[in-house]
Amino acid sequence: MLPLGFLPDTRFPDPRIEALDKRFSHKIGNTGIERIATGFRWAEGPVYFRDGGYFVFSDIPNNRMMRWLEEDGHLSVFRSPSNYSNGNTRDREGRLVTCEHGTRRVTRTELDGTITVLLDNFGGKKLNAPNDVVVASDGAIWFTDPGYGSLNDHEGNKGELEVPVAVYRIDPATGKASVVADDFVRPNGLAFSPDEKKLYIVDSGITHGGPAHIRVFDVDGSRLRNGNVFADFAPGLTDGIRVDVEGNVWASVGWGDPAEDGVRCYLPGGDLVGKIHLPETVANLCFGGPKRNRLFITASTSIYTLYVDAQGAQLP
Ligand code: MG
Repeated sequence: MLPLGFLPDTRFPDPRIEALDKRFSHKIGNTGIERIATGFRWAEGPVYFRDGGYFVFSDIPNNRMMRWLEEDGHLSVFRSPSNYSNGNTRDREGRLVTCEHGTRRVTRTELDGTITVLLDNFGGKKLNAPNDVVVASDGAIWFTDPGYGSLNDHEGNKGELEVPVAVYRIDPATGKASVVADDFVRPNGLAFSPDEKKLYIVDSGITHGGPAHIRVFDVDGSRLRNGNVFADFAPGLTDGIRVDVEGNVWASVGWGDPAEDGVRCYLPGGDLVGKIHLPETVANLCFGGPKRNRLFITASTSIYTLYVDAQGAQLP
């Protein structure tokens, strides 16, 4: 097992960080990739708490969420059982919003620690297994429900899918959910552009005979329009994505050529400009740190971090 700390043979510039275009080169300085925690069964759902100086993520098969303190690297259990939580994010009030496979629901952890169920059914039928979630600045909660988490007992509770695979939006005023996209094979990670005029949504449907790409939609109030392919990842796939303040899209990569495992960076126009190569399949990532310029990457059994000259777009 690789030790914690900088990866072996680190030298600057780190050869694991590959600039395909000079527009990416400036994003990487004298910085290397660190493994800050390991020993998990499937790390996902990265979310950073700048106010508390800690990073939280899901360890799905272990049915728990973990917390890593930035100050001293202390690692502890944040929530167990977590109902096989997957995707996490925070709303503009700083409240944690979580997708739970096991209970097939989306929850919000209030500032006093109590948990509010935001949605656990649609039209009276159970959701499949909510996967990933993002909150818009107006408080609307957008999430994907591909059903991976109900396929087996390893990452949830095995069960039949009762509703069509879909992307949902929970209205902030009414709390009611509506389907905003129903033409995905397996919708997965999602992220807004900085101005929230675009929403990027992953389709990881290659696992079920479909595509492995990111689509970009125009956001029209509570609806989505267009939905063109933004970037393709076949024969591997991307799972989780984040956008920085310049509108660049940072995407996890895995499940294909091991040499491609890691993170890719795309310009807003779709040009692939950089790759961060990691020794494990990557599921998701987020920006964190006091300046929001540190990538936190959930990669199979481990968490990796890297400082970049980019800042996550979403607050807090
Ligand atoms: Mg996911």
